[in-house]
Amino acid sequence: MARCVVLLVSVLAMMCAPRRASAYCLSTTCEGIDACDGAAIEGCPTLQWRSGCVGFSVQESGGSGLDLDTVSTIVDLAFEAWRDVDCGGAGPGLVILNLGPVPCERVEYNKDAGNANVILFNSEWAHSEQSHTFALTTTTFDPETGELLNADIELNSRDHDFTVNDEQIQTDLLSVLTHEIGHFLGLAHSGNVDATMFEFYEDGTYELRSLTADDGAALCASYPSNDQLTDACNPLPRHGFSPSCRDDQAEGSCSAGRPEPEGTGSWAWLVGALALSSARQRHSWTAQRPKRTAVPVRKPLSVRPSSRSIATRSTGRNAKPICGNANHG
Ligand SMILES: [Zn+2]
Repeated sequence: MARCVVLLVSVLAMMCAPRRASAYCLSTTCEGIDACDGAAIEGCPTLQWRSGCVGFSVQESGGSGLDLDTVSTIVDLAFEAWRDVDCGGAGPGLVILNLGPVPCERVEYNKDAGNANVILFNSEWAHSEQSHTFALTTTTFDPETGELLNADIELNSRDHDFTVNDEQIQTDLLSVLTHEIGHFLGLAHSGNVDATMFEFYEDGTYELRSLTADDGAALCASYPSNDQLTDACNPLPRHGFSPSCRDDQAEGSCSAGRPEPEGTGSWAWLVGALALSSARQRHSWTAQRPKRTAVPVRKPLSVRPSSRSIATRSTGRNAKPICGNANHG
């Protein structure tokens, strides 16, 4: 009998134990539906850079009182955190390349012209998101496959002072960028309160700079190790790279004005991109794409629990949402 009682107590204890919250999630093509904890959702493919090779650019003006070199350094560090994830003894199947600064300061995706994945400061912030929003990542994807085509990150410098030091932290640029880059790569908010991809952040803190195992699991689920992928891969957008916004592009020159990429200096990309671009002009993806109205998906990030705070705030009253995440199919 004693044994039965012990067993019963154990079962009750298991039943009463707090349920594990849903952890990492990936964005999908279906509005408002994320794929969490490795579960696939039929009819809703997850969003990924399918080639595993993607470039980014920093808008050349800097912002929030920070110059281009400073911002570029922080952006590189934020991407580095994701590059350094260990996916079972090897890195993620992902090559991310800094293509250098660009003049374009607009969030846009051109279906028939060159593009760049731009990280920029927005000092006007006319979005419907409230002033407490720190940043907004806008992604564009193929609604049939979930293949990411473009991603731009805007930082709200109208309402926030971004800082890059460890002593007088206001809004920590590296923390916000590390979170936003998760969205840039197709990740959604996590249910794990310690994860960088959790939807809360508190001003004055810097913990989001460091990825957790949950963040790593999300990345590795989306980009498993791939030893066939090398730094010589082609990171250029589907219709070629352009440092200029659409209105400033000369017709038919989408790849011609690309700046020298930082890091590898491999011009094989340009040749590959031009070939790719012309092939796609003959077989236009946009012409085959089914008509679908792009519906933005907003994922505001709100108050982060005080346990993540390095300051003396106890209620999170001063904490502010970090970001929105708009996905366009
Ligand atoms: Zn977010």
